[in-house]
Amino acid sequence: MYEKKGRYIVEFPDIPSERQHQIEIDVEERRRNYNEVELGFDEERALKEARRCLSCRRCLGCALCWAECKPEAIDFAMEDDIVEVEADMLIVSSGVERAQERIDDKFQLGSNLNVITDLQMERMLDEDGPSKGLVIRPYDGEVPARIGFVQSYEAAASGVHRAALCLAVNEAILLRGKLPEAEISIIAGELTGFQQEYAADLEKLADITFQEAAVVSVDAGEKAEVEVTLATAQGEECRSFDLLVLLTQPQLSAEVKKLTSAVGLEVDYANFFADGDGAALLATEKDQVQLAAQR
Ligand code: SF4
Repeated sequence: MYEKKGRYIVEFPDIPSERQHQIEIDVEERRRNYNEVELGFDEERALKEARRCLSCRRCLGCALCWAECKPEAIDFAMEDDIVEVEADMLIVSSGVERAQERIDDKFQLGSNLNVITDLQMERMLDEDGPSKGLVIRPYDGEVPARIGFVQSYEAAASGVHRAALCLAVNEAILLRGKLPEAEISIIAGELTGFQQEYAADLEKLADITFQEAAVVSVDAGEKAEVEVTLATAQGEECRSFDLLVLLTQPQLSAEVKKLTSAVGLEVDYANFFADGDGAALLATEKDQVQLAAQR
């Protein structure tokens, strides 16, 4: 750690800090034509540059929190301390992360700005999020009139699939509150079981459409809409959305996997999704160690 302009900077040797520069045509060549001088990044430079930004969940050492913290509770020089605690019961409470790295290219995540993930939608719906609770199309800032939630993962354990669908329904309800006129659809390969299980609750959501179908392809439309080809029981069908939200698989974080292994548990991430009402703790093979179930 070192001080620079009154700020304490913490260095992370595993995060590249050096900025990448674009490839430029050489001076001799520039003399003979009017071609663009800057040629952009090649793959290697692009990956290096992107890695600089992938530390968003790590402290970047900007020291803003230190500067703002009035009780002076932040100590950058503090070392990890091992503390032994005696307890009668241990409850592993996991939380969930969303698996994005496995999303197939056919969904155009990253290449089509109007394709986002459920996590991005969650952030957009949040009053404290980047758009201050405004739901807008990233491409042009327009308010979307047709929003489709589609399953972006292949088959998943039933509890995991149900958790992803529950998130979609929750987000659809919040969306409905913000955009009363919008057409909202939830599309997944397997919906029947979910609809039967939650029939009483889903009945109240008459203005949200559910469709059992798998995504075949995603294409950009002429007016920045997202054209989705679906495989349904009746054959292929094309639907058009202003904003496409990809449902991702919930999964355990690496930290929780480390924690469960530290307490000697063999935990498959699907085990964290309760089959019952979701409120109960799940017993484990270790006496007095329980898992806090997720929905
Ligand atoms: S504000 Fe965030 S990034 Fe900056 S020093 Fe504090 S924890 Fe790290």
